[in-house]
Amino acid sequence: TEVDGRWVGLGSCDMKGFFALVIDAVLPLLDQPFKQPLLILATCDEESSMSGARALAEAGRPLGRAAVIGEPTGLKPIRLHKGVMMERIEILGRSGHSSDPSLGHSALEAMHDAIGELRGLRLAWQREYRNAQFSVPQPTMNFGCIHGGDNPNRICGQCSLEFDLRPLPGMDPEVLRAAIRQKLEPLAERHKVKIDYAPLFPEVPPFEQPEDAELVRVAERLTGHRAEAVAFGTEAPYLQRLGCETLVLGPGDIACAHQPGEYLEMSRLAPTVRLLRELIEHYCLKPA
Ligand SMILES: [Zn+2]
Repeated sequence: TEVDGRWVGLGSCDMKGFFALVIDAVLPLLDQPFKQPLLILATCDEESSMSGARALAEAGRPLGRAAVIGEPTGLKPIRLHKGVMMERIEILGRSGHSSDPSLGHSALEAMHDAIGELRGLRLAWQREYRNAQFSVPQPTMNFGCIHGGDNPNRICGQCSLEFDLRPLPGMDPEVLRAAIRQKLEPLAERHKVKIDYAPLFPEVPPFEQPEDAELVRVAERLTGHRAEAVAFGTEAPYLQRLGCETLVLGPGDIACAHQPGEYLEMSRLAPTVRLLRELIEHYCLKPA
């Protein structure tokens, strides 16, 4: 619905509204000869598993030279974001009567050491990696939930931890996981427990499009804004993997996404259509 100069509805800003604007931008250009093809790409499950973009990246078929993802960025070009990893550690010990520690293997005490190791890694990574373009310039690691044990007089037999890790561009999620695994292995031996460590779901890799890329320069010129960094993850790394220079640039504001009353300011419609037309002209109608 249209209310007070806004399009109101789930997806209006993040990010189905973008399709309407792309189609509106293309329609009047269709009678002109396209020298390069234009592809309008819709992916499934963009909000959670990103399985559409992942499948595309795995298929490995080149898409094109440049890709613009219409995530809500307030019409400012975005060329960097952190990655998103959500991981789980599950420790299986052996329960027993609390009066005699030799009767069991405490999963809780092993987890205490595991958290110590994770905090050590976090400190090392935060010393090693820093990117001032992000409002939080270091990689972060958040211990979000922990469950274990059931009774003070029982040796804790099971403990699990879920944490969130946000790597900066240049940090490879697989390398980070290997480092974590390497710290956990000796703990399992020392505490005589079993430690399972796995992602809760496949990560969103960190993303960086170099600032001297043609797409970055063109978008900066057309929008009048320097390309920046955002805190949320997108499908950009998957499109980049297919050989596209990739930029995140859309009309909505992330602050109103994912909530009742999501909207797109109608004052953004015309500038978005204009910008998209200029990009299409640059890449498809009169490519260099
Ligand atoms: Zn979203």
